[in-house]
Amino acid sequence: MIKNEVFNLCICGYFYIHSKQHRPLFTKNRHLPKLKYFCKNLITMNDSNSKLTPLSELGEFGLIDRLTSNIKISNSSTLLGIGDDAAVIKPEKDMLTLVSKDLLLEGVHFDMMYTPLKHLGYKTAIVNFSDIAAMNGKPKQLLVGIGVGAKFSVEAIEEIYVGIKKACEVYGVDFIGGDTTSSASGLVISATIIGEVEKDKIVYRKGAKPNDLLCVSGDLGGAYMGLLILEREKKAFEADPNIQPELSEHDYLLQRQLKPEARIDIVDLLAKNDIFPTSMIDVSDGLASDVMHLCKASNIGCVISEEKIPIDQTTFDLAKEEFNIVPSVAALNGGEDYELLFTIKQSDYEKIKNIEEVSVIGYMTDASEGERLVTNDNTSIELKAQGWDALKRKL
Ligand code: ADP
Ligand code: MG
Repeated sequence: MIKNEVFNLCICGYFYIHSKQHRPLFTKNRHLPKLKYFCKNLITMNDSNSKLTPLSELGEFGLIDRLTSNIKISNSSTLLGIGDDAAVIKPEKDMLTLVSKDLLLEGVHFDMMYTPLKHLGYKTAIVNFSDIAAMNGKPKQLLVGIGVGAKFSVEAIEEIYVGIKKACEVYGVDFIGGDTTSSASGLVISATIIGEVEKDKIVYRKGAKPNDLLCVSGDLGGAYMGLLILEREKKAFEADPNIQPELSEHDYLLQRQLKPEARIDIVDLLAKNDIFPTSMIDVSDGLASDVMHLCKASNIGCVISEEKIPIDQTTFDLAKEEFNIVPSVAALNGGEDYELLFTIKQSDYEKIKNIEEVSVIGYMTDASEGERLVTNDNTSIELKAQGWDALKRKL
């Protein structure tokens, strides 16, 4: 896992991020501003202690200048970054270019009530980097389009950009352009990522074969538990603004939800160990849904062993004890973990079995056997995908 201290999401880190320019989102001190107050300020930034700039004061070009100043480019494939009508890139010899895009909408993908803007920017970049990792590639150039309502201040938008720029710095990605416009409704952020992969190293969803081993990096279900915590505290706060959110002891799960990482390190680790995945996808919708994408694209089936699904102890305890849900359900249906789910040939088992960051959770079968889950009590059931679906808005 890539570690960096800047967004260390321990609870005091969480306060710190806000306390620089905004009121803390959640605070233990009852005399400090409450959540609702903060959220109001998050948007209007009507805070007497800091001078905030309405968007109208800068206008579109002024805003673009302010957001994109001090952006440096470092990749040799980037010939020109921000400033002209288009950026210019030149793929390295023998490399394929990967392109992907994600759209994040306020109220659909994130809730302004508990999403720190800096984290939102970071996550916007990360979810795009993760798609490139899932093709066995490296992210190189990022473009970001934003639609903002007049209720936002320049400083609030700058916070989003701090997060985007940080993600680019951490992952060695050049921020090469975007577009800026006003939005009549909520905040809209759309990012496009360009990546590279060596021609003979590309990995598609479609390459898995029966008997391949199914593997996943890291642990699953944590991001969903983080979301449940935030939703629970939001509801408690709405019911009684004098109740302060209970966020202590949940650093890891909040981090999984608010500040995910892209597993480029796993791409490197597999290459270092001479393991070439036969198919790969990133876990954005939940293990069940994403393994089905691999099965469908490869026209095969799978068997997942419930007991092999990697679940962090904090996810496990919270799911069972506080939310009364089966922990593996959080892993199967939660989503947003941004781990890599991939298949390897059986002959690569010896190479992968001692890699701590990767778990072998099952194997692939003939299409006629369907997609199965062997539960902890050794019953084989049909795997059902109930991952988060932005169109159905269900979980
Ligand atoms: P155009 O009118 O051709 O769309 P713009 O004035 O919108 O040009 O953009 C000028 C430059 O600033 C371009 O290089 C563009 O990629 C960049 N840019 C515009 N908005 C953003 C943004 N929100 N984030 C990053 N770069 C941006
Ligand atoms: Mg433009």
